[in-house]
Amino acid sequence: MEDCVFCKIIKGEIPTEKVYETEEILAFKDIHPAAPIHILVVPKKHISMLTDLKPEDEALIGKIYTTINKIAEQEGFKKQGYRVIANCGKDSGQEVMHIHFHVLGGKKLGDKIVD
Ligand code: 5GP
Ligand code: ZN
Repeated sequence: MEDCVFCKIIKGEIPTEKVYETEEILAFKDIHPAAPIHILVVPKKHISMLTDLKPEDEALIGKIYTTINKIAEQEGFKKQGYRVIANCGKDSGQEVMHIHFHVLGGKKLGDKIVD
């Protein structure tokens, strides 16, 4: 989709630090990391929000999570664990309207999920 920053990253129009890539999924480092490990995992298919997911996207979302495990293995943080956050809509503060999964780790994260 035009004017979508993550679609531009997927198309190679905006440079990024890629971590992992499949035919359907791209993972890259967040430009403003909130933890020592902060990777964004995105489907290459443009879906604006989690509330736009359709039944045909179920397999894709499953693959996102198995891909995250592969990334954790590759990047060496599988044993320590990680946190996955996916914002959806106004109350969550979603800024980029292309669904994405924040993978955070590399240190003991705070106990609170929300403030
Ligand atoms: P949201 O608040 O929508 O869940 O998170 C969007 C995330 O995308 C933010 O953590 C932000 O730092 C990241 N981000 C926004 N633009 C870019 C970019 O051009 N490149 C990269 N690597 N990350 C970006
Ligand atoms: Zn997009």
